[in-house]
Amino acid sequence: RTIFNSVEQLPADALFGIKQRLSQDPRPVKVDLGIGAYRDDSGKPWVLPSVREAEEVIRQDPSYNHEYLGISGLTALIQGAAKVLFGEDSEALAEGRVVSTQSLSGTGALHVAARFFSKFCGDRVVYLSDPTWANHNAIFETMGLKTATYPYWDAASKSLNLTGYLEAIKSAPKGSVFVLHACAHNPTGLDPDRSQWTSILDAIIEREHIVLFDSAYQGFASGDLDRDAFAVRLGLKKLADVSPVVVCQSFAKNVGMYGERAGCFHLVLPRQDASVDVGSIKSAVLSQLNKITRSELSNPPAYGAKIVATVLNTPRLTEQWHKDMVTMSSRIIKMRHELRDHLVKLNTPGNWDHIVNQTGMFSYTGLHPEMVKRLEKEHAVYLVSSGRASIAGLNSGNVEYVAKAINEVVN
Ligand code: PLP
Repeated sequence: RTIFNSVEQLPADALFGIKQRLSQDPRPVKVDLGIGAYRDDSGKPWVLPSVREAEEVIRQDPSYNHEYLGISGLTALIQGAAKVLFGEDSEALAEGRVVSTQSLSGTGALHVAARFFSKFCGDRVVYLSDPTWANHNAIFETMGLKTATYPYWDAASKSLNLTGYLEAIKSAPKGSVFVLHACAHNPTGLDPDRSQWTSILDAIIEREHIVLFDSAYQGFASGDLDRDAFAVRLGLKKLADVSPVVVCQSFAKNVGMYGERAGCFHLVLPRQDASVDVGSIKSAVLSQLNKITRSELSNPPAYGAKIVATVLNTPRLTEQWHKDMVTMSSRIIKMRHELRDHLVKLNTPGNWDHIVNQTGMFSYTGLHPEMVKRLEKEHAVYLVSSGRASIAGLNSGNVEYVAKAINEVVN
């Protein structure tokens, strides 16, 4: 009877807490800069036109049904997803070195990675950026993996602490796992530039570390899929003869399919001696991935996968999707500029250029926890205590209000 009586109460998830407080806030003007989900200029969730059309195509298909997918998911999604990520001209794909499975969006792909690592190299430490997406720690630690951090954000200069980053790579035990945000780093919105990526990857190769790219924002940052895949593709090139690379891919943000949980896990094998039977390694890896999926999901969700696959494999819809990504990324960039410009006009103390220099969904504003508290209490502007603001929550109707609120709490 009493077996669960002493179960410990855990604190509420920070983002969930914000959502709850916001929905109970009776004030007429409220601004949600918490959740990392795109909103249009009227503050509403946006169903991408490419997605709307893909849904029509699926429903009108005479073979429309809700049958189970296979254990590793929808082939049309997996193949299309790999091409989007690695490029049409990918050597890894042409050489048949990629093993992929559909996952429960990006989180599920990371979980599969964590389970795979814990089974086959569980003694390796997983290095996460400081700071990182709040869920990274939990995902790896839940699987019993040891985590550590590498310096990333230099608060004083609001720029990349490359020296500290490279030092951590050098001093980490050989063969550690490095989780790298492929683009639009969450929460800082700060990505290494191209030459910094080269230094980072070279240092990783020297210490024989394993790279895991977390690709949750491809195309969402710049509006251009190829540009946002720069780091992943450079990594694959540099590591092609060196070591495997894991890539966790989400379609939550770039297709606006947050709740449908469409994503993929990819393991890219390195080139091997001719005597090695790569086909049997791939088959063994896939059998292990299938075992994970079978025991946890039985098989991945079909509806979102079909939508994304239709978008990726229908040229007209792919073209529309590319436009949709430009619509989202350019609106966010516009809001970054408007917020910065309002703050400058208000003579708000400090330099606010980082808001326009950062990329993707978030800005790491530099606002302190007390300021964040006051923004919520005095102005009904909600964001997480780290000062990370989801720029997608801004629109032409509230950006000036938010700037004035920030100005008030900073002064
Ligand atoms: N990785 C990062 C860095 C993220 O910011 C997110 C979502 O916010 C994810 C992965 C996973 O997202 P999802 O599981 O919705 O695809």
